[in-house]
Amino acid sequence: MSTTTRTPLVARMRGFGTTIFSEMTALAQAHGAVNLGQGFPDEDPPAAMVDAAAQAMRDGHNQYAPGPGVPPLRQAIARHQRRFHDLAYDPDDEISVTFGATEALAATLLAVCDRDDEVLVLEPTYDAYTAVLALVGAVEVRVPLRAPAFALDLDAFDAAITPRTRAVILNTPHNPTGTVLGPDELDRIAALCVEHDLVAITDEVYEHLVFDGVHVPLASRPGMRERTVTISSAGKTFSCTGWKVGWACAPPALTSALRTTKQFLSFSGGTPLQHAVAVGLDAGDDVYDAVRALHRSRRDRLVDGLVAGGCQVARPAGGYFVTMDVRDLGHDDGEAFCRWAPEALGVAAVPVSAFVHDADATVRPLIRLAFCKPESRIDEGVERLLRARSHTSAGGRP
Ligand code: PMP
Ligand code: GLN
Repeated sequence: MSTTTRTPLVARMRGFGTTIFSEMTALAQAHGAVNLGQGFPDEDPPAAMVDAAAQAMRDGHNQYAPGPGVPPLRQAIARHQRRFHDLAYDPDDEISVTFGATEALAATLLAVCDRDDEVLVLEPTYDAYTAVLALVGAVEVRVPLRAPAFALDLDAFDAAITPRTRAVILNTPHNPTGTVLGPDELDRIAALCVEHDLVAITDEVYEHLVFDGVHVPLASRPGMRERTVTISSAGKTFSCTGWKVGWACAPPALTSALRTTKQFLSFSGGTPLQHAVAVGLDAGDDVYDAVRALHRSRRDRLVDGLVAGGCQVARPAGGYFVTMDVRDLGHDDGEAFCRWAPEALGVAAVPVSAFVHDADATVRPLIRLAFCKPESRIDEGVERLLRARSHTSAGGRP
């Protein structure tokens, strides 16, 4: 039997390896560490959604969903967009259900971007954008959110646009920094998208986790509804990251484009879970308010614990994550710290450098901590992190 000697992975995907999130969760599990790395909550979704999923299975919703998603979910997404964002979408022609926000992003980028098209992203950059752009053969152009404030430099955003720019990917609330873009920033971005005829692809998976201010979708800004693919998912809002039910709202031509590619990624799936998410989206304000309040108090618990321990930590405006500087813990390299801490301290985090090309001296010491965990786990995590000061890391400090 002959075996091929060719490297099986195409060149453009080499270097991606295993995602940093999987890697850090594996380390946390191997060492029984408190996992403040990968962003997933420990609790279950609302009981009404679990019951609805089980009921949907009993009711025979166990075969392929229609490619665009089951009608009750598309209708519920339409009601959600109108109720929270005053945006009207037609469930038949403008809303598509996907296998998580990740598939919506992939389907959209595969549909709208050609090889060598330039796509603007914010840096630190969520890994899936980079990987899918590499699959497409498009060119990722990164616009930095600079530490410590992680504010968007709109002049830099403007300057990054060229005649080859096809699209922008905007993630607000932002992973990993917690930056929430406000209406003025979004209006300026909108004006640039209109001026340069760009497609906007928004990643709004943390839309219900804005703690200071409100979430404003880019699609609600002047001239944007007709050029924006608004992407979100149920995972964070309803604590069901493993269900992978996401969606994309876009005008008919963009919807038709992304549905074309989406068919050949997964076609459609998770039929009973789609029915259950429809029930979740129609929940009363109390359900949405409760998840926001829960995570706000967890954010404060983590920030206050670290500050009480002598660390300088900013309070993120939204999302699941706090970033901190390991120099406050007597160390100097975030990546070395994250590889060392699960075994040595019993706590896992993710280095911010994993979201950045050519991490410089301001980024290298930064780590990301997920606060979507019970308060007792957060307290334990903080205590273990603070013990770092009396340990020597792989990097030989302190
Ligand atoms: N975008 C961002 C910014 C994320 O943090 C995540 C992780 N939840 C995703 C997309 C992926 O979402 P999903 O699990 O719905 O595919
Ligand atoms: N979005 C999650 C995070 O940032 C991870 C999702 C994943 O593991 N791909 O931690």
